[in-house]
Amino acid sequence: MKVPLLDLKAQYAAIKPDLDAVVAEVMVSQQFILGPQVEACERAIAQYSRCAFGVGVSSGTDALIICLMAEGIGPGDEVITSPYTFFATAGSIARVGARPVFVDINPATYNLDVAQVEARITPRTRAIIPVHLYGQMADMEALMPIAQKHQLVVIEDAAQAIGAEHHGRRAGSIGHYGCFSFFPSKNLGAAGDAGMVVTQDAARAGKLACLRMHGSQAKYYHQVIGGNFRLDALQAAVVRAKLRYLDAWTAARQRNAERYHRLFTEAGLPLAGSGEYRARAGDASVLFLPDVATDRHIFNQYVIRTPRRDALRAALQARDIGTEIYYPVPLHLQECFAYLGGRPGTLPESEKAARETLALPIYPELSEAQARQVVQSITEFMSAS
Ligand SMILES: *Cc1c(COP(=O)(O)O)cnc(C)c1O
Repeated sequence: MKVPLLDLKAQYAAIKPDLDAVVAEVMVSQQFILGPQVEACERAIAQYSRCAFGVGVSSGTDALIICLMAEGIGPGDEVITSPYTFFATAGSIARVGARPVFVDINPATYNLDVAQVEARITPRTRAIIPVHLYGQMADMEALMPIAQKHQLVVIEDAAQAIGAEHHGRRAGSIGHYGCFSFFPSKNLGAAGDAGMVVTQDAARAGKLACLRMHGSQAKYYHQVIGGNFRLDALQAAVVRAKLRYLDAWTAARQRNAERYHRLFTEAGLPLAGSGEYRARAGDASVLFLPDVATDRHIFNQYVIRTPRRDALRAALQARDIGTEIYYPVPLHLQECFAYLGGRPGTLPESEKAARETLALPIYPELSEAQARQVVQSITEFMSAS
């Protein structure tokens, strides 16, 4: 039995009439650029993430870039973020000419270790971009007072965390901006590239709306230099149609995570939670499972950990089980960031996570039989070697 990492065809099969209808509606309207579909999607996502405003943009990457532009962040400025994330988080900082400053992660959650943030703040620091990795929020409650004290802007990279909660508050609603990606493999995926910025601040929302249209409010009159960062009407329609299913999909992902936990426990494997990692680092006899440290983890990824990761991945591949490594090279060691002077050993938790973590299939349609196959294959590998 094949177990893919993600099965978008199964999702489409379940909601085909809905999606086909909204796509047809946009085609009939021939309104492709902004307009009612985009506005309705902005209202729906803002409401879902408990924010006052949503501004649809062309991707999650552009969501990050446009927030940095709106704050006038550029050459000479520093922005603190995590080195253990998708490239776009730090790539956007560099794209506007600012300098990414990496702070190591807490291995319990794989998110920014907030305790290390303040030591990296300098007079040049303008913003912090916490990432809510794998669908679990960073410790915003600890981070916001630090940002306030130093008057820094907080841009939440919530690309993997739509609907996640931390002390009852939703991803994207706590910082000055929240950035979502609707890349097809995210929990809420479009039929192509798409993204959104949410904010509680009317002035900031206005600035974003202006920047995404070449910096113009009235057509052909340009107050500032922006770009084409618009959300496509077709994508907006697809995203809004799929939003109605998001809570059910999230619940299915959470059930799948609980099922993995139960099956691994039943298999009798030596297990530990990611929260115990610091105490047991490098222990090859134990399999580390993800701990849920916040109130609503939406499991964009279910990530396990073992020092024997590469051999385990090969064994699973041989059995037609799809896995992925998020992410094999921490950003401070990427070739394109060599000019920042990052060296191996400087951000040890990110570097160890890059060597040891593995994402298993967790998508909503994953069956019990498929999950059993994954757990059985991992159990055989862990017991044999
Ligand atoms: C997917 C992702 C992005 C970028 O989103 P795109 O829509 O692909 O541009 C940014 N940050 C994180 C953490 C992501 O997972």
